[in-house]
Parts: sequence; C-alpha cells; structure tokens
Amino acid sequence: MRLRALYAGLALLLAMFAVDALGAAEVRGVRLWRAPDNTRLVFDLSGQVQHSVFTLSAPNRLVIDINGAQLSTKLDQLNFANTPITSIRSAQRTPNDVRVVIDLSSVVTPKSFTLAPNQQYGNRLVVDLFDQDAGAPPSVPVTATAGTPQLPVTPAQPAAKLPSVPGGKRDIVIAIDAGHGGEDPGAIGAKGQHEKDVTLAIAKYLQQQISQEKGFRAELIRTGDYFIPLRKRTEIARKKGADLFVSIHADAAPRPSAFGASVFALSDRGATSETARWLADNENRSDLIGGVGSVSLDDKDRMLAGVLLDLSMTASLSSSLNVGQKVLSNIGRSTPLHKRRVEQAGFMVLKSPDIPSILVETGFISNPGEALKLTSASHQQVLARSITTGVRQFFMQNPPPGTYLAMLRDQGSAVEPPREHRVASGESLATIAQRYQVSLPALRKANGLTRDTVKVGQKLSIPTTALASQE
Ligand SMILES: [Zn+2]
Repeated sequence: MRLRALYAGLALLLAMFAVDALGAAEVRGVRLWRAPDNTRLVFDLSGQVQHSVFTLSAPNRLVIDINGAQLSTKLDQLNFANTPITSIRSAQRTPNDVRVVIDLSSVVTPKSFTLAPNQQYGNRLVVDLFDQDAGAPPSVPVTATAGTPQLPVTPAQPAAKLPSVPGGKRDIVIAIDAGHGGEDPGAIGAKGQHEKDVTLAIAKYLQQQISQEKGFRAELIRTGDYFIPLRKRTEIARKKGADLFVSIHADAAPRPSAFGASVFALSDRGATSETARWLADNENRSDLIGGVGSVSLDDKDRMLAGVLLDLSMTASLSSSLNVGQKVLSNIGRSTPLHKRRVEQAGFMVLKSPDIPSILVETGFISNPGEALKLTSASHQQVLARSITTGVRQFFMQNPPPGTYLAMLRDQGSAVEPPREHRVASGESLATIAQRYQVSLPALRKANGLTRDTVKVGQKLSIPTTALASQE
C-alpha cells in the first residue's frame, strides 16, 4: 500500500515537473547589435518570461536571470568585436530558470525590457548595455558599482555651428536619418531585402554628395546597423546643429504593384490628439516602435507617426513643405512618384519650430521591381542626387543667417568662385545643368559645346550665374 502511494506521489511529482517544463518558454537564440554608445542583446524566446538584470564588479559582469525559461541553444556564436563583452556563459539553474552571465571588459549600465511578438519575431528579451561614458538613458535603474571612476562625458558639441568656410561663415548642416536599423529591419521586400539596409546605403551616398557641396555639411544620424530610438534621432540632429532633418525610408504596401516615391512633411491638423496620444506613450515608446512595430503595416504608420511627431517638436512646417516640394520634384525627374505633392500625414506640427524636417519614402520595397532598384547602388546614388539637388535649391533661396550661402546671397553671386564639375558616370549635360541650377544653353556656352554629349571624367566649368538664375 505504502509503496503504491509512494509511486503515485512520485508519478504526480514527475507529471508536475513535466507540466512545468512544458510551460517554460525556450530561449532559442541570441542576437547582438553594436551601436556607437551601447550594445544590444536580443534573446529570442518561444513565450513570455520574467527576468531580472544586475551587475557585479571585480571582475565586471552582468547577470541576466530569465525565469520560466529553458535554454535550447548555445549562446557562444556571437561576435563580440568592438563591444565590452568578452564572453557569455549560461546555466540552467532550475528546470525553469536560466542564468546568463556576461563577462565584461568595462562597466556598463544595463537597461532591459521584453517585446511582444510581431510578424517577424516572437517574444524577445532585450538587454541594452550602455557604455559608461556614453551617458545612460534617464530611466535606467542605478546598478553600476559604487566607486567606479566616471569617465569624462563628452560635451555635447556645438561644433556644428563652428565656422568652416573662409570668412567665418558656417556650413549649413543637414542631418540625414537612415530609417530603422538593428533589431528593426523596417519593411521587407519580396526577396528579403531589408528597408534598414536600403535607407543606410542611400543616407551614406546622400552624406557624401551633400558634403561635396560648398557651404554644406551632412551628418549621419545612424552610421551602422543598429537601432536608435526616434526621440534620440532628433536629439542627435539638434546636437549636430542641423538646419534640416531628412529621414530616409522605403515604403511597403499590401498590394505588390504599389510603387513610387513620396515625401512627407507634417500636417497642421489633428495636432492635439496625435500629440497627446504619442506623448502619453511611455519612455519605451521608441523601443516598442523600433522593436515591435515597423514590420507590420499598421505599425509602420505608427512608426511614421512617431518620427513625424518628434520632428514636429521643432519643425518649421512651411520650410518643410518648401524643401519637401523641391526634393520631390527632383526625385520625380529620375523615378516615378507615388504622389505628386508633398504629403502631410494626418499628424501635427509644432507651434515654434526650429528644424525643418522631411521624410522621404524612396519607393516601395514591397514592389519586386522597385525593390531591385532600391537595392542597386546606381539607383541609390540617383535618389541621393535628387535629394541633394532639392536641398541645395531650397537653401540657395533660403540661406540661414550666418552661413556661407547667406553671405553669397547678400554680396551677390559675383563673389561665387568659378566652379568646376567632373562628369561622373550616369550624368548628362541636362542633369548637370539641373544640379547647378543653370540653364542648358548657359552651360553649353560656358564650355564651348555644340552638342550635349559629355564623357565621364570630362571637366566642365559651371557658369557663376547660379544664384541670380534661381527660379
Ligand atoms: Zn520606414
């Protein structure tokens, strides 16, 4: 009898273990992204978990306890280059509790949160390791070891406003924001193309091209494959002293045939409700958008809303519309447009703006043909060139005070030094005339050309009537 009871008890115990074990989520993998000031670890999970994170010193370690989870993967496949991580160890402490220990070469400030499933990923646990000298986000619990010497914090550089052109005139600063990044791939094309890669490639070409324009300097908000919260993006632009914020994206639609580029500025309608909705969101808003949102179409609008809201905090609507229209009409010369006018998402605009901001949807990555173009270097360069031209046209007409372009305008175009252009592949006399805002006959005349054929590498002098001939 007694033995039978014991067996029954044992069986029950085993059954309970089994149930428990089945109920535990699996830790299926871990991914790592390195950003300039932090390292993001993303644990892919089969279900929801509880977790806690704490740091230990001498030697520096970060401990992540994941409760209600079993490890079903090895965590040693990661590349720790340029990160403070030297190794990752893990142990199943109980059948349902995983402990992950991260060995660190320097002190970090951790921040962690979980993300619900989206179309691409399941449940995730995100652990951000902020470098000690990077300035931790405001909401981070203080877990760093007491007595750790603080490295000097790099001062927010107003370097952007420093004169860099002779005569003490500053450059016009264009902040270029490559949409998405890291854990947030953005929209995904039929062949698996990621919007985040397209946006970064175009942003880099755009930076090169704008920086080659005299009187301009371009700064990338995101320089690699990592996610930056939306609020931080506009903050970076402000720190860099941006005169214009250009966010680069690629569209997606359920209908694969949708195509064409579009440019967004803010709407001055519906400000209160949208603002209220977004402001009410908690501090994880950006992370939620970045981590969960932007893959699904509904959430893509939320992503857009978030970007535009942040822009609106400081945006100048009429300037945004003006520069947006110039960018759009230049893009329209090289690629089909989705809408011929600058769109204003039904969001809102701020009342005392200081950085005009536009969002360029460079095409539909969900359209197979357009996705091919968007991933080709030559088309990316053409798109960047169109944006550069539009931006340049806007600032030649509206140069901010104290800039080299403002000086040119004030003194008349006579002071503008003669310009020379070396023909690059894919360029025609017409596109060069357009770029420098000179008429085709004037360009022909300045170079003694009788025909419009030009050769790659050929040097052309650009007539100095540019400012006078602005539309
Ligand atoms: Zn996007």
